[in-house]
Amino acid sequence: MKDHAIALTGATVLVGEDLEPHGDAVVVVGHGRVTAVGPGAPVPPRARVLDLAGHTVLPGLVDAHVHLGAPETGRGEGPPGPLARAGAVADWLRFQPRKRRGFLRHGVTTACSLGDENAWVHDFRRRAADGTLTGPRLLIAGPLFTAPGGHPVATVGAAPGDDWVRVPRGPDEARAQVAALVTGKDPVDLVKVVHDRGDPRRRSLEPLDPGVLAAIVDEAHLQDTPVAAHWGNLTDLEELLEAGVDHLHHLEARGPLDGWPQDLLSEAVRRGVTLTPTLAVTEAVGDPRTAAVLRERAGEFADAGGTLLAGSDAGMPSVRAGSGLLREIELLTACGLAPRRALVAATSAPARALGALHVGAVVPGRAADLVAVRGDPLADLGALRRVGVVLRGGRVVVDRIRNRKRTR
Ligand SMILES: [Zn+2]
Repeated sequence: MKDHAIALTGATVLVGEDLEPHGDAVVVVGHGRVTAVGPGAPVPPRARVLDLAGHTVLPGLVDAHVHLGAPETGRGEGPPGPLARAGAVADWLRFQPRKRRGFLRHGVTTACSLGDENAWVHDFRRRAADGTLTGPRLLIAGPLFTAPGGHPVATVGAAPGDDWVRVPRGPDEARAQVAALVTGKDPVDLVKVVHDRGDPRRRSLEPLDPGVLAAIVDEAHLQDTPVAAHWGNLTDLEELLEAGVDHLHHLEARGPLDGWPQDLLSEAVRRGVTLTPTLAVTEAVGDPRTAAVLRERAGEFADAGGTLLAGSDAGMPSVRAGSGLLREIELLTACGLAPRRALVAATSAPARALGALHVGAVVPGRAADLVAVRGDPLADLGALRRVGVVLRGGRVVVDRIRNRKRTR
């Protein structure tokens, strides 16, 4: 098999989990992995050299929250009508070529699916892993666990038998359903629960039964599989912390709009529970004043020592694969995070949180999932939108620098 080494030269490289900048450094890639990093790293004799002067090389971005199955819609567009469905189904059957392209073009080389049809998303992950499909690596939760009157059964009409949900009728069934996902030769990377009482002014929803929730978390943890929770209000949060979930997703007006209860905030931080606030979707669908307050709350979570993760919720209305995560990173800086911390929230922090330590940092031995952007994203996050080159598993999957030279 031909697998020439690649050397990225002349760029500033953001090295390690803390994205420490090393000027004029070399990254050497071979057999899909980073083999050496540093200003003096020797370039192997037959390596293909990519001169990236003026660029910054960072680890491929990780989107901690996407939905791969949902059709993409723009701002103000509703769900696709019957005429658009044929295209949506065709894309689904071809494993979302536009989304895969969208992720890679924006430097997103890992995406975490938090609620998709289980058999389909396993198939998708397999094809993305073995190179049959060009796209980001996938981490998957498979279906989401919810109550008979919970989201998305009561909200968008998911039927309890659909493969993207599990609606256990009691703790024993919950255990069996979780065990089927977290054991075997193709286990999920995490388990997702929906524990959300909804918005009483609009529609109240049924949260998980406490015994069912406890059984799900316990069974997942028996296999060292983390549990992520979609939550709504502060009672949901309190019960989720009590049940021992590992990751919180979303930050809603019905939650801590008026402030965090100190005991819940300290408890979450003490236990290392991460928060993926999905600010891009809040910005897209909510009112600006509420969105601004929620960003403050996310900032308070970080100030208290909590870990924020960047997740776009791509697949929700007007949040697109790839560009949605870049917006999320910008919004994390609007919460008060320095650009470097916001980038950690979109690289090494989600990799660590999801146990995916083969990605998320430019370190020898990790996967050569790399992005070169023009400029310095630590000074100006706008640089993230000037993607020059993207490598996924040591393969160049985006190369705009070459194209630019050719058209000049
Ligand atoms: Zn979601």
